[in-house]
Amino acid sequence: MTKNEKPKLAMYWSSSCGGCEVSVLNIHEKILTVDEVFDIAFFPCIADFKTKDVEAYPDGHITVCLWNGAIRNSENEEMAHLLRKKSTFMVAFGSCAYEGCIPALSNLTSKEATFNTVYKDNPTIDNPEGIIPLTSVQVPEGELTIPEFYNTVKSLDQVVDVDYYLPGCPPEPEQIWAVLQVIVGALLEGAPLPPKGSIVGASNVAVCEGCEREKSEKAIDRFYRPYEIVPEPDVCLLEQGLVCMGLATRGGCGALCPSVGIGCRGCYGPMPGVEDQGAKMLSAIASVISAGHESMEEAELEERIQTVVDTIADPAGTFYRFSMAHSLLQRAKVNGSNGKGEAA
Ligand code: SF4
Repeated sequence: MTKNEKPKLAMYWSSSCGGCEVSVLNIHEKILTVDEVFDIAFFPCIADFKTKDVEAYPDGHITVCLWNGAIRNSENEEMAHLLRKKSTFMVAFGSCAYEGCIPALSNLTSKEATFNTVYKDNPTIDNPEGIIPLTSVQVPEGELTIPEFYNTVKSLDQVVDVDYYLPGCPPEPEQIWAVLQVIVGALLEGAPLPPKGSIVGASNVAVCEGCEREKSEKAIDRFYRPYEIVPEPDVCLLEQGLVCMGLATRGGCGALCPSVGIGCRGCYGPMPGVEDQGAKMLSAIASVISAGHESMEEAELEERIQTVVDTIADPAGTFYRFSMAHSLLQRAKVNGSNGKGEAA
């Protein structure tokens, strides 16, 4: 990039819902500043770019690529390699890119079971011949191909080298703006960049630290789903039996969900130093369950604890909602395979 050239910005959407793109637009009028500072080099969501445009760029031509979405199929993986090669800074933008997020919950099952649910065994599907997508089909006009659907969803850094991580589902607009300012400051004024591999646009303390609800000793004898109770307005939600991941989750969002009576879902990922967010939360939950007393027989105590635990709906999906691909497990053992790291 010459001195008079503008830095180049790319944003790509792989396996995700599109909320990350919306969150970029949520920086409102500052989007005009982004447009002023950057040349948009690739942003298929907002402008008609083609893959061949990116292929034609010299390596490193794109200054910053904000990649959102997990790696679900072969096209996602190919685009990740291409954009990595063409970008100076690759940012895993949002929870899907950072940790797999909702798409990676399918790592709790197999590709085959997912296809069965989506294409065959589903009340809204009329597919008597059980047709499923094939990667290659011959038609009179020639061969039709579609990307290969992988058995295991991966995070971006399980496929290519990542420079920075911006967590959140989606990241908060103020955090996005703060990160773009840091990058622009570095590019235009020589300000220092955070060390490679940093988690940017988030804090280094738990969501609980930024939560204004009153906290005291927790002793929970049953859990509730959000629709089952109306929580007290100022009291810690976890103390009221609502699963709140605030204890195990990195802050930076402003504790938005707990502030409106919804337990933190965990979308900013694990706290610094925590490798497995789900395991950390399980351990926190285990320490606050109140189910009996010391003099009880072990068997009875176990039964009571189990009764409390059974009130947590979908523990794996709750504690690993955002972090499955990045967890120690990465995926559930299905059909005799440990599944770890395999691509298809
Ligand atoms: Fe932490 Fe959630 Fe309780 Fe707030 S409501 S203090 S975020 S556990």
